Amino acid sequence: MTTYFNYPSKELQEELSRIAQAIVAPGKGILAADESVSTMGKRLADIGVENNDDNRRQYRQLLFTTNPKVAENVSGVILFHETLYQKTDDGTPFVQLLKKNGIIAGIKVDKGVVPLMGSEDECTTQGLDDLAARCAQYKKDGCDFAKWRCVLKIGKNTPSYQSILENANVLARYASICQSQRIVPIVEPEVLPDGDHDLERAQKVTETVLAACYKALNDHHVYLEGTLLKPNMVTAGQSCPKKYTPQEVALATVTALRRTVPSAVPGITFLSGGQSEEEATVHLNAINQVPLLRPWALTFSYGRALQASVLRAWGGKKENICAGQNELLKRAKANGQATSGKYIPGSVTGYAGGNSLFVQGHAY
Ligand code: 13P
Repeated sequence: MTTYFNYPSKELQEELSRIAQAIVAPGKGILAADESVSTMGKRLADIGVENNDDNRRQYRQLLFTTNPKVAENVSGVILFHETLYQKTDDGTPFVQLLKKNGIIAGIKVDKGVVPLMGSEDECTTQGLDDLAARCAQYKKDGCDFAKWRCVLKIGKNTPSYQSILENANVLARYASICQSQRIVPIVEPEVLPDGDHDLERAQKVTETVLAACYKALNDHHVYLEGTLLKPNMVTAGQSCPKKYTPQEVALATVTALRRTVPSAVPGITFLSGGQSEEEATVHLNAINQVPLLRPWALTFSYGRALQASVLRAWGGKKENICAGQNELLKRAKANGQATSGKYIPGSVTGYAGGNSLFVQGHAY
């Protein structure tokens, strides 16, 4: 076995670590707005809105025309391919609007999950074949980071060795291709919360999965300082009869991360994975209060936990755009506080007046 390899050039290393560090700057995290067309369809169906191009555009316009104050707590937004090329009503590309407000644009580059034959309903994630070309184009079109989600399931016999190894390797290949195109990869091995397993089992599985991921990233010579990790928090299965306190969840999460994630990784941006908005914030806050050395920024990359009340407040109605944006500002601020363990439940109130510069008629 030879151990020969080249690190990326100094310039590339600097560019990648600059982007990664900006995303996890103190008090800031990511808005994951990269729902695929079908996932967005489910979110819109919940509020009785038809899933068509323009309704998806209207909703993303609401998010991205929120008062630029939101950038105090949102450093980056993950987009879906379709959204990257959409524009506001007055023709401004969304990506241009985000940049103007100091928000870094990211893009989901995986092409979804497919079954692993011979496994117990496990899966891998596809999309590697044309990834370098797609990343090159996305970089030209304004994206500086990417996301690729793998899914692992906890059962009696799962996750299997097959799925742990396969998903670690595909994440490492993805990460290496992204870096070759000057894009920071967010590595997302999501251990699903489905099941009745306890916290201890969730912790051990998360440790095993993350250990395999960092071995694969090392094998693929990925420059860790130019990556971010997007893991699940360590929580008991959703049907576990035993309930755990936020402090227990936080300790299990930080312990698992300390055992497996190198300190060269600048930041860990948690997914919310079906937690309620408040629960996700309270857990993040408790994580940032654990009295152990935490060498990485620990922040959020939430989809549902930043958008659930936005969608509800909006309900597809023009007159409710400001109300929806107000919810986004509140949730972003609460999670921003949680990144330093300073969130006090119930303390974040709304903003006076309208928030949308767009609906107020400012020229975007
Ligand atoms: P949730 O926060 O809704 O889990 O989504 C985040 C995400 O991007 C999952 O891939």
